[in-house]
Formats: sequence, C-alpha cells, structure tokens
Amino acid sequence: ALDTRGERTLLARSFHTTDSIMTRLADPRLFRERAHVGGKWCSARSGAVVEVTNPATGALIGTVPDMGAAETRDAVAAAVSAFPAWRATLPRERGRVLRRWAELMLEHREDLAIVMTIEQGKPLAESRGEIDYAASFVEWFAEEGQRANVEGVTPHLADCAMVLRREPVGVTAAVTPWNFPSAMITRKAAAALAAGCPMVVRPASETPYSALALAELAERAGVPAGVFSVVTGAPEPIVGELCANPTVRALSFTGSTAVGKRLLAAGAATVKRMSMELGGHAPFILFPDVELEKAVAGAMAAKFATTGQDCLAANRIYVHRGIHDRFVTAFTRATAALKIGDGLDPAVELGPLMHARAVDKCREHVEDAVSKGARVTTGGGVDPALGGLFFQPTVLTGVTPDMLIYREETFGPVAPIVAFDDGDDIAALANDSEYGLAAYLFTNDHGRVQRLTRALDYGMVAVNRVKLTGAPVPFGGVKQSGLGREGGRLGLEEFTEVKYLCLNA
Ligand code: NAD
Repeated sequence: ALDTRGERTLLARSFHTTDSIMTRLADPRLFRERAHVGGKWCSARSGAVVEVTNPATGALIGTVPDMGAAETRDAVAAAVSAFPAWRATLPRERGRVLRRWAELMLEHREDLAIVMTIEQGKPLAESRGEIDYAASFVEWFAEEGQRANVEGVTPHLADCAMVLRREPVGVTAAVTPWNFPSAMITRKAAAALAAGCPMVVRPASETPYSALALAELAERAGVPAGVFSVVTGAPEPIVGELCANPTVRALSFTGSTAVGKRLLAAGAATVKRMSMELGGHAPFILFPDVELEKAVAGAMAAKFATTGQDCLAANRIYVHRGIHDRFVTAFTRATAALKIGDGLDPAVELGPLMHARAVDKCREHVEDAVSKGARVTTGGGVDPALGGLFFQPTVLTGVTPDMLIYREETFGPVAPIVAFDDGDDIAALANDSEYGLAAYLFTNDHGRVQRLTRALDYGMVAVNRVKLTGAPVPFGGVKQSGLGREGGRLGLEEFTEVKYLCLNA
C-alpha cells in the first residue's frame, strides 16, 4: 500500500495546521470542527475525534467528533421534536428558508469550493461547479415543494368523496459519499426539507467539512434546530443506528453497491423507505459518423471529471473500428496533456485519488488488463514526479470482457477502450454489466438513436453530450445501480407518502 493514515498524519503535523484552511477563507466560521446536532455544535460524548487529511498533500486538515449511536439517537430525537412544526410550516415559508440557504451557498461559493478542494482534492474549478450544482437543488426544491400535489380520484363508491393527500414521510436520514461532498447532500436534503421532513446527515469520513459548512449556512438561513443535523464519525455505529431506528422513516444512501446492499438489509428490520444511488460502470458508445473532436471532448469529460471518481464515469469506451485508430491517437494525446496536481493550483485539471486503496485498484486494473493483452498508450501508474495519490491519466486499448476493468468500477482515471464492428450487438455488449446507471451514445444516425436508447438498460442515457444531470431531472439507475430517483418531481416523492381519505357524508 502506498501510505497509511498514520504516516499521512505525521507528515501533516510537520507543516500544516488547522489554521491553514481557515486563513484561506473569507469567512472562517465556515470551517467547523464540531458536529451539528439539534441546532447545537457538539463534540462526541467520549471526546474522541477523527482526523481529516488533504489527499493532495497528506497534510492533516483538522478533526471532527467521532460520534456513535448515542449521538445519532440525539440527532434523531431532535428531528422528531422538530418535525411537527416543520411539517406545519407552509410550503411557501419552507421555500423561503430554502431559497435563502441556496443564496448563502452561492454568496460563499469561493469559500465552500476551497474547503471542498482541500478535503476532496478536486480542482477548484470543479469544486465551484459542484457548489453551483448543489445550490441548484436547494433553489429548485424551494419552488417544487410548493407544488407537491397529488391527482384526484374518481369515486368507485356511492356517497363518498375521495381525497388523496401528500404528506411528509417523517424523520429522514442521508448517508453520503466523498466524491461529491456537497451535491450528494443537497440533492437529498433539499427534497426532504421541501417535503416537510427533517433530515439527519452522516457525511463520508473523508469530507465532513463541506457538510458542516452546509449546516452552518442552513442555520444562518433560518432552518430550525433539529431540521438539518450533521453527525460525524466512523460509519458503522452511526449508519447502523440510522438503519435500525424505527423513527427514521426514510433513508437515502449514495455510495457503493456493496455498502448499499448492507444498508438495504439493515433497513428491512424497520421497513423504512430506502433510496439507493449506487455504483455505475457507464458505457460510452462511439460511432464513426461523429466528428472526431466532439467525440474526444465527450470521452474526456465522461472519463476524467472528478479524477474518474464519479459514478457516472465512462468505464467502457466502445469505439467502432471505423473511427477507432484516429480516436485512440487523439484521445491519447488529449489525456497525456492533462495537468495533474494539487487542485488549489488553478492550472490543474486532475486532482489526486482519495485513498491508497483507490491507487491500488487503478494499478490492479491496469496490470490485469496488460497481462491479458491490453496496451497502455499513455500513463499507467502513479505520477513519477508527484507520487502519493496522484495516478496518471491512463488510456488502455484492446480491452476485452475477460479483464477486471471491463466488469468492475475503476473509480479512477483509467480509460479502457473496446473496439467493436458493424456486426456486433452493441446494446447487448453495453448491457452486459450488473450496473445500469448512465450510458453515453455518440452518433448522428437518428434511427440508431431511437433503437439504442430503447435497448440500453440504463437509468440515464445521454446522446451526443455528457453532462446530463440537473435539479429538474430524475437521477438514478436500474439493476444494481440503485433504487429510486433523486432530483425532479420524483426526488420529492421519495420523501412523501400518499394518504387516501374516504369521506362519507
Ligand atoms: P462507500 O459505499 O464506501 O461509502 C459511501 C458512504 O457509506 C460513506 O459515507 C461511507 O463512510 C459509508 N460507509 C462505508 N462503509 C460503511 C458501512 N460498512 N456501513 C455503513 N456505512 C458505510 O462508497 P464511497 O467510496 O464513498 O463512494 C464511491 C461509490 O459511490 C462508488 O461506487 C460510486 O459509484 C458511488 N456513487 C454513486 C453515486 C450515485 O448517485 N449513484 C454518486 C456518487 C458515488
């Protein structure tokens, strides 16, 4: 393994202190080292803390409370207390508070982006983009919460009026990953809060500071105590309590399929609503009728955003023989030109990976593919100059279904290219995966678009472009990529129940 947490921390103490992040912020109060439970900034009952390090430098950023089941129960109890008043607040008023929250996020965009880059590693430009994206959910649900109606019904019984009422599901919880430290929280919390539900958030251990900054801004925006709590600490005790606690009525998770399955099983004991945004293994399908430049730009964006640590990242790039060689040459050149480094440097386009185990996985995928006949056209290992968690952007050609990378999510900057021919059933190839989150199709043939968008077994399909997500549209996958949808109308429905009233006069 590349390094241990201990070594990283030791390194850190020698030259970075907590103050270094605070001095970079226009508003240092956005850097919070305590959890936010029931409207109070709290330490763990035991006083224990967990350390948070910067993946670019290995430096210690600071600590957050190592809370457990007891503090989680406190947060849930605070949410239970806050629920009656929050659900009774008029949707217009809840919308006003949420809008203020979004405005504050945008006002403090630069500080939030700096916090994100320091704890997550992504280039500052990507962090700024994520803050805009995160705020867009809050802004959108502020409005949509005011339109949470249900259709009427035609009575099937005489002398009865039938009414359907949409009601908040109750206390909710979110468990979120480190790759999108803000947006994965607001995509859940904005919908829950707009629906009238309080939410307890357990952010990833690696990126608690983005979550705590959101809590600070929520408080300033007027979100009442207990409506939005952030509990920090090791995952099992907190998430275990959230799954087991019968008063948590809905839990929304974003993370790996393996952990999602465990949570689904744990949540079954209390039959709670479970939304799962899990892994992906996106196919990127390229036909020769597409302009080369556009194809390369699309593949670059689909592969290397967030250093490949994205559930939407292309992990099988299927290229038709008619364009294959030209594409490989141009894509390799563009990949080799990417500037890798500390995301705080404005010229940097690709940051570090999150952990040593992520580096190990990239290396394993490359070595396995090469041992089975693939060729590395650029990159291939840890950057020789930067070392640490900086894996070079890498292109593999000649990738075949027997290779690990063809089956498993790499979650890193390795682009596997698979050649295909006219006779191949490209939809069947692309569907040959346990995942079904996003697929990308590049072709200008209208008939092919019609045919393949139907045949592709994916929750989201982008044609001739890559960026497809946004607040008004549903995000989610099929097969082992998840259950439920976030964003849009459907995202709001995840946090509501329909009550049917049969009224006899
Ligand atoms: P992960 O599953 O390891 O962690 C996700 C969250 O679960 C984190 O908060 C983590 O601390 C927590 N967790 C980890 N182990 C746990 C356990 N045993 N019990 C309870 N909680 C636990 O995933 P990750 O490495 O943080 O994120 C990468 C994964 O997330 C990838 O598979 C990626 O595809 C997926 N992802 C999916 C989406 C989506 O919307 N579909 C978005 C981003 C990431």
